Amino acid sequence: MKHLITTSDFSNDEILKLFNDAKLFLDLSSNKLLEGKLIVTLFFENSTRTRSSFEIAAKRLGADVVNLEVQTSSTKKGETVEDTVANLNAMKPDAIIIRHSECGLPNSLKSYVNCPILNAGDGKNAHPTQALLDLFTIMEHFNYDVKDKNIAIVGDIFNSRVASSNLELLPRFGLKPILVTPKEFRVVSQYKTVKNINKVIDKLDVIMSLRVQHERHTFTLSDDELEENTKKYSKKYCITKKMMGSRDILLMHPGPVNRNIDISDEMLEDPRSKVLEQVRNGVAVRMACLKKLILNQ
Ligand code: ASP
Repeated sequence: MKHLITTSDFSNDEILKLFNDAKLFLDLSSNKLLEGKLIVTLFFENSTRTRSSFEIAAKRLGADVVNLEVQTSSTKKGETVEDTVANLNAMKPDAIIIRHSECGLPNSLKSYVNCPILNAGDGKNAHPTQALLDLFTIMEHFNYDVKDKNIAIVGDIFNSRVASSNLELLPRFGLKPILVTPKEFRVVSQYKTVKNINKVIDKLDVIMSLRVQHERHTFTLSDDELEENTKKYSKKYCITKKMMGSRDILLMHPGPVNRNIDISDEMLEDPRSKVLEQVRNGVAVRMACLKKLILNQ
């Protein structure tokens, strides 16, 4: 049985086949491919897009969905996540979708289940369906000719599971990442890393802006310090029209966008911004992932 814990669980051929399916699902119309199947979602961390995207994807495929309300579940009575998952598994779901703040948790749950696990984000470790929908969006835009395209990943790289999954996936298809980040969020990397986007902007094909992951920071700041830091950060890293000029660069963001800190209001309205297209593609890509893992095809 296959799980989707990190993007490395799927080969390049499997991903291209997945994208063929996603294209067919792009109108987001309903079908009955997963009729009679039951999918459980378990979100221990906040989510807007990923949770609703998975739920809509499952429903568009005709599956039933049970969302476990973690706040009112027995994990609040001291049950371990492993026991919670083993108990849910005993009710014979066809897939379990899980998000948790602990890196590696979805992987460690594999031995407790008889159905595929889909990782909807584990701490700063991985967010495979986000990276798949990001790659799909880029592929569709460039007509599947993405070799040697330069993509700047901008922001809190150190704490971002979106960055880490994309850094695993995108180079496999020939994309060339450049990391744009202040020194506080730097990672040890084989990829070119710069502090100032203006140094590389002329050669970029894609910008992937990221949110500062305050919830993962181990330091605490006073409100004044936070305001001051945010001001400094946005001056350099907020993607603005002035920064982009008339360059033909695709602008992406996994959401939630912190307006005028990550991307300016004006750039969010600009046709080069693909943020909502990513959201729509996300449903189609997740439909394809559920089909692949549950029907094994
Ligand atoms: N939604 C993405 C995630 O869950 C990005 C973010 O939260 O900034 O990682």
